[in-house]
Amino acid sequence: MRYISTRGALADAPQGFSDSLLGGLAPDGGLTWPVQMPRVTPAELERWRQLSYAELAFAVLSKFIDDIEPAVLKALCEKTYTPQVYCNTRPSERAADITPLTALGLEQGAPLSLLALSNGPTLAFKDMAMQLLGNLFEHALGARGEQINILGATSGDTGSAAEYALRGKQGVRVFMLSPHGRMSPFQQAQMFSLQDANIFNIAMHGVFDDCQDVVKRVNEDLAFKKQYRIGAVNSINFARVVAQAVYYFRGWFAATAAGATEVSFAVPSGNFGNVLAGHIARRMGLPIRKLVVATNENRVLDEFFRTGVYRIRKSAETLETSSPSMDISKASNFERFVFDLVGGDAARVRELFTQVERGGFDLSADPAFQRIAEYGFVSGCSSHTHRLAVIRDVAGRYGEVIDPHTADGIKVAREYLEPGVPMVVLETAQPVKFSATIEAALHRPAPRPAAFEGIESLPKRFEVMDTDVSAMKDYIARHVG
Ligand SMILES: *Cc1c(COP(=O)(O)O)cnc(C)c1O
Repeated sequence: MRYISTRGALADAPQGFSDSLLGGLAPDGGLTWPVQMPRVTPAELERWRQLSYAELAFAVLSKFIDDIEPAVLKALCEKTYTPQVYCNTRPSERAADITPLTALGLEQGAPLSLLALSNGPTLAFKDMAMQLLGNLFEHALGARGEQINILGATSGDTGSAAEYALRGKQGVRVFMLSPHGRMSPFQQAQMFSLQDANIFNIAMHGVFDDCQDVVKRVNEDLAFKKQYRIGAVNSINFARVVAQAVYYFRGWFAATAAGATEVSFAVPSGNFGNVLAGHIARRMGLPIRKLVVATNENRVLDEFFRTGVYRIRKSAETLETSSPSMDISKASNFERFVFDLVGGDAARVRELFTQVERGGFDLSADPAFQRIAEYGFVSGCSSHTHRLAVIRDVAGRYGEVIDPHTADGIKVAREYLEPGVPMVVLETAQPVKFSATIEAALHRPAPRPAAFEGIESLPKRFEVMDTDVSAMKDYIARHVG
C-alpha cells in the first residue's frame, strides 16, 4: 500500500508506509492517506473472528503495510498485544481478550456494552496504538540505522502513553513538555516516576498551549530540527489510526457473537483519531451501522455533523472540562475524513483547509455532506452535569465505575439506540485517572488497579523550565550530544 497527501502532494510518487510512519505531516502540510482503501471479504471476516488479538492486528495491518517483512510485522504485533501489556483489567475481564467487552444491559431493546480499551500501561485507549507505534519505530529506525528525538507537549494522556511506549527503546529519546503543576497527581506520577535514561520530562511554567507553542517554535527552526532529528508521535500519525481500526473488528466480533449482523459504536471524541479508525473499518467492509461521535462541551465536531459547518475555536474559547482529553479547539485528524467525504478531491481539501486557517468552512449545501448519513455518522454532546449523572447511573444500575470520557460516550449513545442493534461504547480511560470527578459523582474514590497502588509516592524525575525556546533547544542539544 502506498500513501498520498490529502492536499495533493505525493500524487505522482506515493510513499511507502515506513516513510509515512517516520515523516509526520506530508510535504504540503496535508495528512497521509492510502491510495485506495483495502477491502475485507465476508469470508475473510468470518475467518478473522477466530483470531487472537495479535493475529487480527497482523491481518488488518498487513492490508496497509507492505514494506515491512510479514514475519517481522507479525512478530511486532505479537510482542505488542500480550496479556502482560494489557493487564489492568476489571476483575470480571479476561486479560487475554486485550480489549474485553463487558455487557451492561438491554436498553430500549438494544444490548449496551463497554469495550475496554484502557487496560494498557497508562490506563487510556492511546496505549492501544502507541504501544505498537513504539515497536514499529524501533524496528524502522534500526532498519535504517537512524535515530529520532521525539518532542511533544501533553496535558496528560498522550504524553504518558508515548513515554510508556518508547521507554528503553533503541534509537529514540523523548522530550515531553507538560504544564507545571497542572496535570492530575496521578498523571504526574505516571510520567515523572519513569527512570529510563531516554525519557526527559520537562515541566514548564505555563499552560498546555504555552508548551505546545514551544514545540511548534522549535520545529520552525528547520536547521535545528534536521540536526537533532526532531520527530513527533502525535495523533495525526497514520500508523496510530490504523492500529485503532483493529479493535473495531474485535468489538464487532464480540458484540455479534449472539447473532446480530450489524453493530453501532459510540466514541468519546476529541481529535477525531479514534472514530476515524471506525470509519476506516467500515470502509474496509465491516458492517458498522452507526458511528456515534460523542463530544463534551467543546462541540466543534458535534456542530459539524449536525449542520455541515466546521468552525474551529481559538484557544481562549476552548473550555476546560471534566473530560479534559476531549478539550480541543480543532480536530487534527478531521482533514482525512473530509478528504474521503469529498471523494479524494485534494484541490477541494486544500481550499477548505485554507478556509480553516481563517476560522472554518461550511459544507451544508455540498452534496458531499449527504455522505455523512451514508457513512453512518451521527453525533451529540455531553456536559459536566450529564457526565456526573451518567457515572452515578451506571454505577447504580450496573455496578461499573466508568471514567468521565466514557460517560460522555454513554450519554450520547443513549440518544441513538435501536432495538436489536448492539451499541458498543468505547471505554477510553479508567476512572482512577480522573478521580476528582468520580469522587464528585459517587462520593468515593475510583477503583485502582493493583499495579498502581501508591504510585504518587514514587521518586519523581523531571526538570522545571521556563517557556523559553532557546533554553529548550540548549537542553535538547546537551542531552542528544
Ligand atoms: C485522547 C482521548 C480521547 C479523544 O480521542 P480522539 O482520538 O482524540 O478523538 C477520548 N478519551 C480519552 C480518555 C482520551 O485520552
